[in-house]
Amino acid sequence: MVGPVVGTTPDHDMTDEQRVPWVLGTQLHPGAGPLGETPAGGRVLMIEAHAFARRRPYHHQKLTLVFAAMRQFRDELREQGYDVEYIATETFRDGLARYFERYPGDTLVMMRSPSYRSGPRMAELVADVGGDLAVVENGLFASTRRAFDEWANRTDLQPFTHENFYRWMRRESGVLLTDEGTPVGGEWNLDDENQEFPPADWEPPDRYVPDHDDLTADVSDWVGAEFDTWGQQEPFEWPVTRSQAQSMLDHFCTTRLPEFGPYQDAMRSEEWAMAHALLSPSINLGLLHPWEAITAIEETFESDPDVPLNSAEGVVRQLLGWREFMRHVYRHSMPELATANQLGATQDLPDFYWSGDTEMACVSGCVDDVRARGYAHHIQRLMVLANFATLWGVEPEQLNEWFHATYVDAYHWVTTPNVIEMGQYGHGVFATKPYVSSANYIDRMSDYCGDCKYYKTKTTGEGACPFNALYWDFLARNEDQLRSNHRMGLMYSHVDNKRESGDLEAIRERVADLRELAADGEL
Ligand code: FAD
Ligand code: SF4
Repeated sequence: MVGPVVGTTPDHDMTDEQRVPWVLGTQLHPGAGPLGETPAGGRVLMIEAHAFARRRPYHHQKLTLVFAAMRQFRDELREQGYDVEYIATETFRDGLARYFERYPGDTLVMMRSPSYRSGPRMAELVADVGGDLAVVENGLFASTRRAFDEWANRTDLQPFTHENFYRWMRRESGVLLTDEGTPVGGEWNLDDENQEFPPADWEPPDRYVPDHDDLTADVSDWVGAEFDTWGQQEPFEWPVTRSQAQSMLDHFCTTRLPEFGPYQDAMRSEEWAMAHALLSPSINLGLLHPWEAITAIEETFESDPDVPLNSAEGVVRQLLGWREFMRHVYRHSMPELATANQLGATQDLPDFYWSGDTEMACVSGCVDDVRARGYAHHIQRLMVLANFATLWGVEPEQLNEWFHATYVDAYHWVTTPNVIEMGQYGHGVFATKPYVSSANYIDRMSDYCGDCKYYKTKTTGEGACPFNALYWDFLARNEDQLRSNHRMGLMYSHVDNKRESGDLEAIRERVADLRELAADGEL
């Protein structure tokens, strides 16, 4: 059995054979929640609903991943002796109607999906078809809703920030903690040691690539025939079974973890994976519990002297801190968060987010990575794709739709806080300022600028990097909301200088030119 380690979850009493776990497609863990308590031989419901996959132009590999992983899980459960009722159909409603026609006396027991209102919605559907449903805590996170809510209600003691939450999670779970309750190594957060750029001769560590069987290959072809997808079908290299996901985690710990820390924020155009974990698609599907990843990382750090603390703490911060924080922030700020737009951004998402057809080497490189695999790493997401969209003034909801459709690890609960809040400063629920930068940051942390048609050091005039003029224009445009932010004081002193020297006029002209170039498909 696995489950949250911060907070407690009650037993689900699955001894009555008419209490049947309903396993959603993102809950594919044999040891979590009601399924983990159901004895082999018991009935299990899985519904493969296709209508959701027609709602957006999802990445081919995302649909392959979800449907192949579900069918693999069904087969594994059957091999273990479970009586799996697997219903492939258009809608959940139809699947539920078919189930309750066959088993009218059953009560389905479902772990609450983290998506907004999914519990009540599923309850309505079940009631509609005359069935019975119990919705229970989702055991696939490291903390419970209740534990977080109790912590969040004490914000008079600890302001509602990720850093406070993360330290609290470390203390409560004991991860990377000394016997005295202090952080191993003396510091809670080594973010400053995660920002190196690798030397030219650095080779990224090997990646684990699963061997896929016929079932997965067939699903991949079926997806192409059945749905309107975006992105490449191949190379499909994401784990679709628990054992593949475990191999990915083992391989990350033994081979990639040592170099994860220093180069966490670096981008190299030829190295899409760098030393990242590549575990989010597996964890978000339930193939791995986040706690399994956290403990494996901590154990490797304790036993392998080649793993530096900035690597171990770097991943723990993401998994125990950011991932949990984002899930709870989403819960607390929906439904407003989905449409939040505190900066009043109204531009449409430029077409090159879909086509990759832009002269900006950083943006086209990142879009190409996403098209190839449904993946780009965190800094590509934040400091290239979301940064550009924020500077351009894209309506946050549109960028969220794009991320949701195009990434293999994307679900509404995780894209919405990451894109709308962290990426675009749409709400203000936890971000204290926008994550925006000019070419300066991208040049420091990547090799994109060397191969770009634009000049990274030029702000105005022909050939100047779009990020530069857009950056100053963004600050000037949003002055009313941002100037009073004490974290932006220095930036606004530069804006004042540019206004006094007349540079701001030239910047605005450059931005107008950039918008014309974009309209003509020539940016
Ligand atoms: P690593 O960099 O190796 O990190 C380890 C793990 O930590 C990840 O596997 C992931 O499970 C977790 N993690 C790290 N940061 C976050 C975070 N901010 N939120 C949630 N989990 C985190 N993550 C998703 O899982 N799905 C998304 O759709 C998604 N969209 C994003 C969009 C934007 C604009 C931004 C800025 C971030 C987004 N993230 C998303 C968070 C993060 O970028 C990815 O989790 C990470 O890049 C996944 O790759 P990895 O497994 O190689 O991660
Ligand atoms: Fe991106 Fe500007 Fe660098 Fe080109 S010069 S890669 S557009 S930051």
